[in-house]
Amino acid sequence: MEDTSLNNTALVYHPDYIKHNLGFDHPERPERISKVVEHLKSKNILNNPSISVSYPDPLNDKDLELVHTNDYIEKVRGMSNYGGMLSIDTPIQTNTFDIAKLSAGGAVLAGKMILEDKACNAFGLIRPPGHHAGKNYGGGFCYFNNIAILVEYLKKHFGLKRFMIIDWDVHHGNGTQDIFYEDPTVLYFSTHQMPLYPGTGYIEEIGKGEGKGYTVNLPLNTGTSGKTYEKILDDLFFPLAKEYKPDIILVSAGQDAHTSDPIASLQFTNQDYIMMTKRIMEVAKLICKKRLVMVLEGGYNLTALSETISNIITTMAGLNQLNILESSPKEIKIDKEVESKIEQIKIILKDYWKTFQ
Ligand SMILES: [Zn+2]
Repeated sequence: MEDTSLNNTALVYHPDYIKHNLGFDHPERPERISKVVEHLKSKNILNNPSISVSYPDPLNDKDLELVHTNDYIEKVRGMSNYGGMLSIDTPIQTNTFDIAKLSAGGAVLAGKMILEDKACNAFGLIRPPGHHAGKNYGGGFCYFNNIAILVEYLKKHFGLKRFMIIDWDVHHGNGTQDIFYEDPTVLYFSTHQMPLYPGTGYIEEIGKGEGKGYTVNLPLNTGTSGKTYEKILDDLFFPLAKEYKPDIILVSAGQDAHTSDPIASLQFTNQDYIMMTKRIMEVAKLICKKRLVMVLEGGYNLTALSETISNIITTMAGLNQLNILESSPKEIKIDKEVESKIEQIKIILKDYWKTFQ
């Protein structure tokens, strides 16, 4: 008989996430949380016995310093006194510092739920997002790097040693990459549309110094279908995970590669996200005691975001999916170039990974 306690999924969010408001036409808007929560409620997901819901506390300054420089933290805190612009697309309002700390606190709580044996996997339904924030900079709607903070927190407080981050957001997680570029304790694996903001994430970016070989980038052409992702997981992610043996798998789960996303042009579907979640869960089960934390990054079509998140969470909890009916993308474009890029990556990484030799 399946042990039901091992199917327990933690969902972490906070009602105050909707107080982060960057102006009415900004794509990173409060409804990205409120609509998703509404949808989860309408599908009875929040009161499903396999899913526990908890609210985080804001991260304290000391834990922020695990990743960010003191100067940068003080800059965000100072600008939050009056408001300002961190970058052209990333305004700071008077509550930004507090809500950004609450977002980082959400990522941390998602990890703690697993390490304290209260759940077997977790989804952090958090905002603002984090993967474009580096040690001393923000941008791309990000202030503090939630997933990087989670990594350092789990190192410090739970003694974990090896982390694998899969960043399936349609944008390259330049901040996360920068933070761990010379760090072999974090294997960062990103797929992203290129060309697109922030313009980084070329195949040749593989890490530096001791971290060389521990950054993997697979840029995808406009129009690439999510069907391609199965091959990416099979040929790159799984072999790397089996050789690296991380203590936990983390996902920068931005669903803006969805075919209906208004600010990007890939063609992932609800079914693709279910497949990706299932496959990554299989690896987590095999390698790291099912430990899997997803944290929300982007995703700007509210319907697609609600449906993909509810499907991801129900998949994580071992429940049936709820919303897989959808119209197909106009044109399924299996990108042949992806295959050649996968081969290129294997060649570039063969000096660092036996599995590619
Ligand atoms: Zn994104």
